[in-house]
Amino acid sequence: MKPASSANWLRPEASRPFASVVDFDWSSNLSTMSTLVLFHAHPDDEAIATGGLMCKASDAGHRVVLVCATRGEQGEPQEGVLNEGETLGERRVVELAEACEILGAEPPIFLDYEDSGMIGEPTNDNPACFWQADVGEAIERLSKILVDVDADVLTIYDDHGGYGHPDHIQVHRVGKAAAEAAGITNVYESTMNRDAIKIMMEVMGGQEDMEEPEVDVDTMGTEEADISFLVESGEFTDRKRLAMLAHRSQIGPDSFFLQMPEEMFEIAFGKEWFNLTGVSDTGGPQTVDLLPGL
Ligand SMILES: [Zn+2]
Repeated sequence: MKPASSANWLRPEASRPFASVVDFDWSSNLSTMSTLVLFHAHPDDEAIATGGLMCKASDAGHRVVLVCATRGEQGEPQEGVLNEGETLGERRVVELAEACEILGAEPPIFLDYEDSGMIGEPTNDNPACFWQADVGEAIERLSKILVDVDADVLTIYDDHGGYGHPDHIQVHRVGKAAAEAAGITNVYESTMNRDAIKIMMEVMGGQEDMEEPEVDVDTMGTEEADISFLVESGEFTDRKRLAMLAHRSQIGPDSFFLQMPEEMFEIAFGKEWFNLTGVSDTGGPQTVDLLPGL
């Protein structure tokens, strides 16, 4: 939050004829508005991990800016979604812009790296991919954006990228250093609640006709006892679902996420979890309306 300046425009002399518009102190009117920047790896990560926070911050009058490291070129497109001659990266740019609109964010800014693909894939060696990026240069690109948009709060990922995707790990590294370079102290690591995932997998496990994600639950996200903040965003799950649907090249109607019964979807996506770098053993997350700094 920016410091509140004196409300000159409330003083009676400010309302004299013809002078009121000139005297109006616009900066004081904007004093409660902060800029939230979300740094993500691929289009669709924003909706899944931080869509609720984005809606909440935007509805509260804050500026919401999404920076995406890559265009997600290595995703697996759903059958029939690509137009003739269209690449997956091009399609995902359009999808992300649509999702940003739904979530109350400005049009996305790309850091212009290529998707590295899952760990161990030959695409990890692509010199243009984010994993192979000159980290110093990537930090410079992001910190310039952070300064340009006057960021107050930045979200990145936890140090293992939630589930180990190279681009997500790189978001952590680059994001943390860029925040330091830009002088931003309100930095939060978006994570998943490992305990909640375990329970959910057990409940969902028995159901048929559902694509089950292949994941190693024991290393996913963060144990609840180490998480710093919980942002409750259950009231925004409808918009979050719409934003996920906007990513139609990736999230088909029969996907694990969208097949969830409504109550289950709300449990899975109505809460968003954030760590503070280097802070663990918190005894469980503190529930906040918005992240401190907003
Ligand atoms: Zn991703």
